[in-house]
Order: sequence, then C-alpha cells, then structure tokens
Amino acid sequence: MNQPSGDSCEQSYLLYTQPVERAEKSPAAGKAVKEYPGADSRGEVDTDPCEVCGSKRARVLYTLPGTRFLTVQCTHCQLGSLWPKPELQELIGFYPEHYYGNDGRKFSLIVEWLVRVVGARHSRFFAGLMPKEGRVLDVGCGRGITLHALMRMGFQTYGFEVSSAAVEGVDSGIQIRVGESLQDAAFPDDFFDEVMLWHVLEHIPAPAATMAEVCRILKPGGVVIVAVPNFSSWQARWCGPSWFHLDPPRHLYHFPLRGLKRLLENAGFQCQSEHHFSLRQNPFGWIQSILNLCPWLPRNGLYAVLHRLGNRRPPFTLAIRLQLWALCGLLAPISLVLSVIAAICRQGATVHVVARRPRTESPSDARRTVIRS
Ligand SMILES: [Zn+2]
Repeated sequence: MNQPSGDSCEQSYLLYTQPVERAEKSPAAGKAVKEYPGADSRGEVDTDPCEVCGSKRARVLYTLPGTRFLTVQCTHCQLGSLWPKPELQELIGFYPEHYYGNDGRKFSLIVEWLVRVVGARHSRFFAGLMPKEGRVLDVGCGRGITLHALMRMGFQTYGFEVSSAAVEGVDSGIQIRVGESLQDAAFPDDFFDEVMLWHVLEHIPAPAATMAEVCRILKPGGVVIVAVPNFSSWQARWCGPSWFHLDPPRHLYHFPLRGLKRLLENAGFQCQSEHHFSLRQNPFGWIQSILNLCPWLPRNGLYAVLHRLGNRRPPFTLAIRLQLWALCGLLAPISLVLSVIAAICRQGATVHVVARRPRTESPSDARRTVIRS
C-alpha cells in the first residue's frame, strides 16, 4: 500500500478520507469490469478460500485509489473482502497513532459522553445473557469501557487486544492479554460464560479460525455476541462505495447477515437472535454515507471532525466545516427515522447476533474434537 505522506495525524486523516470507486464497467467487454490485476474478462479474481463458504472466486466491486487493494465479493455467498490480503506489517499501518484516541478518550466531548451512555446500555444487555459473577471476555476490548461497567456489576472481566496502545488507561481490575491473534492468548478450554466481539470480526484476518477458538474457550451453553456492519443492509446497498461502514482498508471483511450466521454455525454455534438497531452506529452511518455521496465534501469528513486526532484538527476550511455541521443537523432526524424503519424491516446497517455453544456436542462437534486432539 502507498502510505500517505506527512506525520501520523495526516496519515490518520488521509486513511479516513480515501475515496472508494465503483469498479468501472468496460464498454468494450459488455458486462465485464475494467481490467484489474489478476481479474478475468468478467471482472472476477481467484482468491484464497472464502471464510464462509470456501469458494475461491470473487468479483471486483470497488477500487481503493492510492492503495493496491480492491473490495471483492464472493460469487457464491456474497461475503465482501479486501483483496489481496494485506501483510501483517501493512495491517499495523492501517491503525495510526491516534486511532484509539488519546488519554483514554477517542472522540470530542459530547460524542464521548454519548459513547459512554450507549456503552452502559450495552453492558446491561451483556450482563443479562450470563450467570451472576460469570466470566466474560471482550475480544478487541479497546479502552475497556464495557468491561469496566461489567466489572462494577460483579462479573469477572477479561480483555483481548492486538495492540498494547489500544489498552492504555484500562482499569487494572480487568485482566488484559495482548497478542497477534486470539489463539495467542491461550485461554483454557471451556473457560468463559460469555465472549463478545463488538465490531471486531471485520478487522480480523482469519474470522473462521477466530470463531472456532471462541467456541473452544466458551463453556458449553456459553454465549457469544458478534456485532458487525451488515453488508446486505439497505444502507450498504444504497450507498455503495460511499457507505461509511466500509471503512477501507481496515475492514478486511464485509459480512452479509446470512454469511455471518453461517460462519457462526460452521464454528459450532447455534444462532439464537439477531438485533438490527444501534443508536451509536446506524443513524451516524446514514448521515456520513449520505455526506460521502456529495463529491465536494471530504470522504468521512464529519467523522474526522468528531474524532480526536491528537491535538490537530482535520485541515478543512470553515466553509466545509459549516456545511458538515449544517447537513448533519438536517440529516439527523431523517437518519433516525430511516434507522428505525430499517430495524423493523430487519435491514439494520449494523447487526449483532447472539449465538450459543450447544450444551451437548453434535456428532460433527465430536469429530472436530477428535481432529483437534
Ligand atoms: Zn463465500
């Protein structure tokens, strides 16, 4: 990937604002897309086996100018992914210094307050899914806001992160492990009552292996909660390359709801419920995605204004800032209504699925155990 020039603040700003373009149709080849490295005349590429269905064919959907990456979609199960897969060092470069916030804070004051209010509501939801004083793991726990609330409710709290920078300022009562993958944390078998992956799975290079590991470390009957942007939602389909939750190139996978559930079932889980409303994610997704459709505004400009980028502000003119705030005010009520309607129609722009490890092993689970041992 061509790294943006400048200091880390500018890198962070540039990563958020990279444009995404729809793969160009080639007039000479009818329905085929323009030639991309490795793509055939139909705009399809050979990839690694799909994390959900194992297919090795994917069509080119979007290009990410300024990078060597494409967004491709499995021709069989519609899972979206970044292609080619980035190397580990490249992945680290996707998360600039201020991605995780500063001094335990990530956003401007009002947004930070809202994040914590919503975080407290999430904590009550997570608490209701496990026994009193149960053992809970947050994969990708970041600043540990949710775990802190659960700890105060009497639960035994564990966090996993790939970056030690991300866990700076986490309460010392939370047991944190850092590693390249969840397997590195080496938790014992049948250890947790609940594991949550809250907007994390789309950042992980190997989601299928990660979910198999989650199944191993959960007690039989334990619960996993997985939240991801919903690639099959109205917001994703209507906004296309302008969709805020594409978050290129950090989101390595884009899960359609059906694909996410199949991934969980492949790992040995039984899906129990799906939830389509997120006050924190879905209305903002509408606002920023619609703003991204305005070609004169910087991509993800409002998010850049709300995010704390060190001590620097994104280099927008006053006119751009005023437009971003004015349009945000105008779009806020519309986005809330759209989010409620989408949730009612099970089309949430982000979803979270609650799944359970079965109490008794099925014959296929038993086979997996034999292979593991
Ligand atoms: Zn697939």
